[in-house]
Amino acid sequence: PPRNSTAARDVAYALHPYTDHKAHLEKGPVVISRGKGVRVWDDQGKEYIESVAGLWCAALGFDNERLVQAAANQMRRLPFYHGFTSKSHEPMVDLSEMLIERAPVPMSKVFFANSGSEANDSVIKMLWYMHNAIGKPQKKKIIGRLKGYHGITLAAASVTGLPNNHKLFDLPLPGFFHVSAPHHYHGAKSGESEEDFATRLAQELEDLILREGPETVAAFFAEPVMGAGGVIVPPATYYEKVQAVLKRHDVLFVADEVICGFWRTGNYWGSQTMGIEPDIITCAKALSSSYLPISAVMVNERVFQGIAEGSSSIGTWGHGFTYSGHPVPAAVAIETLKIYDETDIGAHVRRIGPHLQRSLRERFADHPLVGEVRGVGMVAAVELVADRKTRANFEPGRKIGPRLMKLGEDNGVILRGLPGDSIAFSPPLVITEDEVDEMLDRFGRALDELAVQLRR
Ligand code: PLP
Repeated sequence: PPRNSTAARDVAYALHPYTDHKAHLEKGPVVISRGKGVRVWDDQGKEYIESVAGLWCAALGFDNERLVQAAANQMRRLPFYHGFTSKSHEPMVDLSEMLIERAPVPMSKVFFANSGSEANDSVIKMLWYMHNAIGKPQKKKIIGRLKGYHGITLAAASVTGLPNNHKLFDLPLPGFFHVSAPHHYHGAKSGESEEDFATRLAQELEDLILREGPETVAAFFAEPVMGAGGVIVPPATYYEKVQAVLKRHDVLFVADEVICGFWRTGNYWGSQTMGIEPDIITCAKALSSSYLPISAVMVNERVFQGIAEGSSSIGTWGHGFTYSGHPVPAAVAIETLKIYDETDIGAHVRRIGPHLQRSLRERFADHPLVGEVRGVGMVAAVELVADRKTRANFEPGRKIGPRLMKLGEDNGVILRGLPGDSIAFSPPLVITEDEVDEMLDRFGRALDELAVQLRR
């Protein structure tokens, strides 16, 4: 790239998240400079459809003026205040009330953070504190799932179940455990029905809880539909069976709604789509359409009482971020939730989601490179396999995902490759049927070009 261009200065100065830095130093970045609707443009003027709304998050697309105004108005009125030591402000309270009103099950209180990772870390510190407060200091262990993604701060990364987030960082921390991902396509034994698979996984969870001792296990974390681990939609009875196990052993259910929340799966919450009754919910991303960073933790009355108890029994819950409930992102989140309601985005998702799911299956399920097409509502994945019979993935060294992402860029669609060569689809919720078709046309061209390359 030309000297002093953004791309050249990027290579000189920027340390990127989740990036192969050797390749990056050679190739440089795609510099995105503006957005409109479901599209973004790079600094060379090339246009792309954003098939994952950035990072599964810009739900209202890339040019919502109401959100801009909400931020500007709040900045003029009160650009910063906090909620420490019983200070408060209106955006934080209004947003808390709106979330409680919209919760899928009765919830009691809302705590704010700035990212999904911080929200999940905050949950863990709530649970540890709460169990100290109520005289059960041994009930602290946390169970996540392999392929689950809950973030990258130390505790959240420990709940995450992806190898790259663990082995390279000496994680998970002690007291964190993982059970199998509910992915029938890869996880089922030969001839095992979805129902039997779900029963076996629930048994695996119960065995783990019994082995560790139920009096030592605090919570089970799950994304209703796993996102970054491959868009994994569990078998129909999985959560029913899992919840029965958790209830039996008094283990709390934490629903990580960071991707699933706010209509992504066809209901307001992924918990509703999947029949989950969580004790705690974390959310972020589409909470503000990601125009500004904000995340939230909702807890039920029982958890809140445990935390409140601690103030008198063991001392104040010493946790909170400078920007917890920051008024400007909170104002943007309030406006976002109003827009979801006023535009009836749920009805839109229920129209477009089935079109997306059907089109993906019709166009790609029989493609020679495709093993499985899966998803629900407005989130989906197309998994590429080396062998459709054995369901074997490609050797990681062949970098199939990154190659397809590059071909996608050439064809005007930004794609997100997930571990195991799955390509995610999680476009802005506002996408139209025509735009879905255009996105899949571009993806299809990239996929066919990959097939030609691989035949060579
Ligand atoms: N939980 C889920 C389900 C996520 O998908 C993510 C991020 O993609 C996180 C948590 C972490 O959120 P953040 O990147 O904002 O820390």
